[in-house]
Amino acid sequence: MNTEATPLLARRRQALGASYRLFYEEPFAPVRGEGVWLYDQHGTPHLDAYNNVASIGHCHPAVVQAIAEQSALLNTHTRYLHPSIVDYAEDLLSEFPQPLNNLTMTCTGSEANDLALRVAQCVTGGTGMLVTRWAYHGVSNLLAQLSPSLATGLPTASHVRLIDAPDTYRGNTFVESVTAALEDLRAHGIRPAALLTDSIFSSDGVFTPSRGELAQAAQRVRAAGGLYIADEVQAGFGRTGAHRWGFQRDSVIPDLVTLGKPMGNGHPVAGVVGRAELFDAFGHQQRYFNTYGGNPVSCKAAQAVLDVLRQEDLQANAQRVGEYLRQGLHDLAARHPAIGDVRGQGLFIGVELIDSPATRLPATALASHVVNGMRRRQVLISATGPRSNVLKIRPPLVFTREHADLLLEQLSATLAELP
Ligand code: PMP
Repeated sequence: MNTEATPLLARRRQALGASYRLFYEEPFAPVRGEGVWLYDQHGTPHLDAYNNVASIGHCHPAVVQAIAEQSALLNTHTRYLHPSIVDYAEDLLSEFPQPLNNLTMTCTGSEANDLALRVAQCVTGGTGMLVTRWAYHGVSNLLAQLSPSLATGLPTASHVRLIDAPDTYRGNTFVESVTAALEDLRAHGIRPAALLTDSIFSSDGVFTPSRGELAQAAQRVRAAGGLYIADEVQAGFGRTGAHRWGFQRDSVIPDLVTLGKPMGNGHPVAGVVGRAELFDAFGHQQRYFNTYGGNPVSCKAAQAVLDVLRQEDLQANAQRVGEYLRQGLHDLAARHPAIGDVRGQGLFIGVELIDSPATRLPATALASHVVNGMRRRQVLISATGPRSNVLKIRPPLVFTREHADLLLEQLSATLAELP
């Protein structure tokens, strides 16, 4: 353990309690960020290959300036007339296929999912929810019930059914699982409200099914009276390279789409996009007011992100560099049998580590060694999936080939020195 970090660590435990977790055996304490780099107090750069929030690069000057200028002028709420939220809504909605033509703004991805569920329950009259077995959708009480990855054995509410993630490595039973869950809800007299899926199945282990699975699942849920909600908190804003939104991979149009994380590049701004008729049905029954959601500062930050995404063509960069990085990872896999699968899209990559190709047993301890080994080599990644054996590589979209080469070089060295 880094001795400088020890007092702060102890104070943190004392002041914040048990729910907080830190990454890495040797916690990392950055003090400054720029582009893909995070610097510790000694000025040592660490390559950030993990943060999808600072998607256009840490502390991007355009976002910093937008926040500073609007903060100096006015910051209020959405019950006064202000153009910033309208300008942003119009611009953001131009990035969505019809009929997704309304936006409600929130501060966090959790609030966005929470609102989407309320809308779904209101318009369908149902309560039943379908989520994947190791899903994560947020922090509220409602969403904790839909986030089995929060804790093993967390009780699932009686209206929730867990479905298989579309596991493209071990066998994809996603659509069948949706059908079975709908049937089970019906057998218990529970009307479905929605299927809610992370479009990149991040906590389930990173899967990008592309054979119409999402479209088929959505069609089945709709036939049973429910909605399809795409959680784009992870996959949205160009991360998957080929598309602006993860669901577009599968030529399906969700009823509601939830957004967050990269939307403000670190500033807390999030939202729900959906068909106007759904928001109308909800809005005529109840009002929605979120004190900070959609405030002028947040809207300016979000607008700056969208502008930079376009100006720097970061989605195309995610596509190009993501391809390159995956190719490099495939090359490594050819030399290391512990790498069972390399998957993902754009700059959201999963590398599944296994005991041996014959058994494909999840190599959880190995993944932890690799993540911590990489951290010691000043490259930040993490692990995901039900057994935490899938390396999660998800850098800011300004990642270049040179950064990818550095990551591959350090990963190769880390794998070479494993026991
Ligand atoms: N959905 C997904 C898929 C997420 O990954 C997260 C955050 N990790 C959330 C929702 C919740 O977002 P927030 O932490 O902003 O509430």
